[in-house]
Amino acid sequence: MIRFEGKVAIVTGGGSGIGAATARRLASEGAAVVVADVDLGHAEAVAREIVAARRKAIAAAADVSKEADVVALVDRATCAFGALDVMVNNAGIGGVQGDIDEVPLEVWQQVIGVNLTGVFLGLKHAVRAMKAGGRKGAIVNVASILGHVGFAHAAAYTASKHGVIGLTQAAALELGPLGIRVVTVDPAFIRTPMIAGMEDGVIPLHPIGRLGMPEEVAAFIAFLASDEATFLTGASYLVDGGYVAR
Ligand code: NAP
Repeated sequence: MIRFEGKVAIVTGGGSGIGAATARRLASEGAAVVVADVDLGHAEAVAREIVAARRKAIAAAADVSKEADVVALVDRATCAFGALDVMVNNAGIGGVQGDIDEVPLEVWQQVIGVNLTGVFLGLKHAVRAMKAGGRKGAIVNVASILGHVGFAHAAAYTASKHGVIGLTQAAALELGPLGIRVVTVDPAFIRTPMIAGMEDGVIPLHPIGRLGMPEEVAAFIAFLASDEATFLTGASYLVDGGYVAR
């Protein structure tokens, strides 16, 4: 499938896990991809791999919780490739987990800063570029099953992902008339570095009997970002092996 020929995409947190798989997937279908990550080395490694496969990618350093970084990232994409069509706000952190009455304020603020404010900033500046380019666009925000249900000892993470779903609904109402779609993808536990050490304990929470793979989430993100999904906006889509059906 070549659904992104001539299109330009940014993937935040593109140096690892779901973001890396999404960058590879969009590039494999023809997109020029800006692989953005707080860790430039990781972003460069993914971009190099894409270029070695004769597809288009550049790497960019960006901490999504910092507005100046996100402004520079979006400007980099439009300068390098001329426009912005697809924004995947994927960067996120788990944060230190613990009893709610012991969570340090700094941990709460860090998780909200990356997972929720980071998505807001990505959305804000992607929309600026999409409006300026006069192009329709698709914005896919990576939330979580924990945007739908709770998880003990993960208050900040759960709150941040519920926030991403609300933000997505508000943005979709505003941007629908401009032809800019905004959706979330809500994975259950996916085998990435984020959940290292937790894998065996959480497998039984998935009726399908295994964890998800980053490529399975990336395939769905690519569908949502493509012109096959032109009637989809404002909604959230579980990719969860049945987790929330339990
Ligand atoms: P991952 O493998 O840890 O990848 C996340 C990437 O984001 C890493 O490269 C990380 O860099 C980067 N990052 C962290 N903070 C950043 C920031 N402030 N600005 C820019 N980049 C930053 O995790 P993943 O599992 O692929 O997670 C991707 C998204 O899926 C997250 O939003 C996560 O909440 C969501 N999600 C994951 C799961 C799961 O089970 N894996 C389930 C549901 C939802 P460093 O490695 O240097 O920190």
